Amino acid sequence: MRRPVIGIAGVSSDTPSSSPFHAWQRIFTSQAYTTSVARSGGVPVMLPPTDDEEVIRRELSVVDGLLLQGGNDIDPSLYGEEKDPLCGETDLQQDRMLIALFHQARTMGKPILGICKGIQLVNVALGGTLYQDVSRFSPNALQHDHLKDATKPFHQVKVEQDSLLWEIFHQETLSVNSLHHQIVKDIAPSLTIAARATDGAVEAVQGNEGPFLLAVQWHPEAMMMASNDMLVLFSAFINACRI
Ligand code: MN
Repeated sequence: MRRPVIGIAGVSSDTPSSSPFHAWQRIFTSQAYTTSVARSGGVPVMLPPTDDEEVIRRELSVVDGLLLQGGNDIDPSLYGEEKDPLCGETDLQQDRMLIALFHQARTMGKPILGICKGIQLVNVALGGTLYQDVSRFSPNALQHDHLKDATKPFHQVKVEQDSLLWEIFHQETLSVNSLHHQIVKDIAPSLTIAARATDGAVEAVQGNEGPFLLAVQWHPEAMMMASNDMLVLFSAFINACRI
């Protein structure tokens, strides 16, 4: 059977000044995403961010699914809030491109997997909001920014019965890594919560209808570099892209 082609939405960053090409940004993904897609049966390609609608359409026409990867915080103006001092670095133009890519992928019926910033982006694109820092959610929240060891599980999430995540794992709890400082606040009307951390923080959402749409707050691609615990999640996404 033909292996599905998975478009990974590239993100840009400044090029070091030591490079002769420092005037232009670099567009990148991580080896953890490309390896995870390939190991679970897909063929990874990277889609450079653009605001050209025709380019977005043509990019998406050559892929069978879209993976929205991790990245910087989302510009709070996109969900109608002022920037909190605790909000991190943002790039409004890039966020707009990613949201346009997401909407076009939905229009074209492409299965979508969101990771970390990906869950936040999906929620904001569909009308939801974010806590700009976990401490705004609750002073008693778990520590979610375990940035030192990306492959290691740090907290548990409780999987909602009958959710897509439940169908995939058949487990009530999952141990996940946690490398984020923002979380979903108001959930978009067309999404349902699929898992929460033990402190109540939203850790996974899914689309209420339409093609496969699942987004998680943790980094399954980083866990994939140390174990096969998240292989079933990637495989479910890749299989949804075969149709
Ligand atoms: Mn977390």
